[in-house]
Amino acid sequence: MTKYIFIAGGVMSGIGKGAATASLGKILQSKGFKVTAIKIDPYINVDAGTMNPIEHGEVFVTEDGDETDQDIGNYERFLDENIFSANYMTTGRVYQSVIEKERNLKYQGRCVEVVPHIPEEVINRLKKAAKKAKADFVLTEIGGTVGEYQNVLFLEAARMLRLREPKNVLFILVSYLPIPNKIGEMKTKPTQTAVRTLNSAGLQPDFILCRAKVALDEPRKRKLSIFCNISPENVISAPDIDFIYEIPLNFEKDKLGDKILKKFNLRPRKNKLKEWHNLINTIKSVKKKIKIGVVGKYFTTGNFTLLDSYISVIEAIKHASWFYERTPEIEWISSEDFESFPKKLKKLKKFDGIIVPGGFGSRGVEGKIKAIQYCRENKIPFLGLCFGMQLAAIEFARNVAGLKEANSSEIVPKTKYPIIHLMPEQLKKIQKSHYGGSMRLGAYPCLLLKNSLAGKSYFSKQKTEKPLISERHRHRYEFNNEFKEILEKKGLIISGFSPDKQLVEIIEIKNHPFFMGVQFHPEFKSRPLSPHPLFKSFIKSALN
Ligand code: GLN
Repeated sequence: MTKYIFIAGGVMSGIGKGAATASLGKILQSKGFKVTAIKIDPYINVDAGTMNPIEHGEVFVTEDGDETDQDIGNYERFLDENIFSANYMTTGRVYQSVIEKERNLKYQGRCVEVVPHIPEEVINRLKKAAKKAKADFVLTEIGGTVGEYQNVLFLEAARMLRLREPKNVLFILVSYLPIPNKIGEMKTKPTQTAVRTLNSAGLQPDFILCRAKVALDEPRKRKLSIFCNISPENVISAPDIDFIYEIPLNFEKDKLGDKILKKFNLRPRKNKLKEWHNLINTIKSVKKKIKIGVVGKYFTTGNFTLLDSYISVIEAIKHASWFYERTPEIEWISSEDFESFPKKLKKLKKFDGIIVPGGFGSRGVEGKIKAIQYCRENKIPFLGLCFGMQLAAIEFARNVAGLKEANSSEIVPKTKYPIIHLMPEQLKKIQKSHYGGSMRLGAYPCLLLKNSLAGKSYFSKQKTEKPLISERHRHRYEFNNEFKEILEKKGLIISGFSPDKQLVEIIEIKNHPFFMGVQFHPEFKSRPLSPHPLFKSFIKSALN
């Protein structure tokens, strides 16, 4: 019998529900169970693909081409497993399928109502995902905060499933306990209120994970126990820590995994968290640093800098750096700065390596191209991801091949030299305004050029006859084959292409320690225990 654990957040957003869910999953997995994790986002958007990354954070692309929430990335990194589209839903997606079923007479003449039909659809989706993953445990993270209007129907789904299968459902509240400066004491009231709100939705948490700056002490544990109607040992301390990968170990200090199993009348089948322990030891013991600059534009909102837009890139840098026993110091460089103050380009010299990540639209593009040129000319290790690869091709065309007006038709639709242009099937979609979920998405194979930098990065030792890899994509534009010959003549190396040779996937240049652009997003496949080969190779060269 599959067990369902729901995780919801109290008091405010951004308290690490995703990392908590992923960590719980890791613990249960280490005890010998098959675990999968699901993310529910309460907004109307059918997927995360149509949202501005500043507003929503990174769009994480699954193997099967869904544009999902960044938490799915956390689940993949912690569980070290691919998570598929079935494990992601939004309000929009749920309503869409209910309406579609209604139109297809699937409700057989009944009146289709918000309750129970929407929660029913949610439950159906949970069951389907459980089946697909053959999971013993399904962890479902309900987005948003308890008490807001938007996620009520998802709480309702949890309530209904619990009513139906009381022995198979457990509810966890991840809450926040503020320590106001002027008072200097950790306050439990907001969490008490969150639990009351849950109670009024017919739900009682089995565990409360108490997120706070510091660990929870005994008096507050007792208080929460009494006021939230929960035994003190199920009130779990979850203080801020330096590395999210340490969270499973922290939970284990409180024996959270065993407590959960006990509630389900289960016993651990094994205990296999050793590799994870070793990883944390490495992370904590490395002293030497490596300085990586990320040139992008999705950083600022008002007076605040948010790094959520590039979370998988950051994690991939970390994984590879730890592999080489380095702590990465990542600096955010706004490309627009280089447009107004080209002198600032010199600043790039202090970095061991520069990454230009994915992006859309014209803002900051010229600054990114200038940064790429600087890396190329000054032999600074450079890795371009998706848009970063496209701009590297444009930079090469402009400054090496002399095609001064080279550009992408995304930026200048009628450019004289469209080095990057719209893929033909994408053109039709755009003409019909079909934007949502319509890019080239998900995993596609790519053939590597033997003995190229890419070839050597992926296949360091073995000699493979067919150096075939698979990577995840999310793009609408592509390298224009009309310019292939001209650019190759000037020294551009096309070291990765689709098996039918129609699409350019990787470019590089000679006589440079590391200069590579990839049309795909390797960052989505990097895991703490198995860093991505390209990031490894990039970091290795940055070390030199
Ligand atoms: N804007 C570019 C395209 O659509 C690159 C996309 C990206 O970086 N993910 O092709």
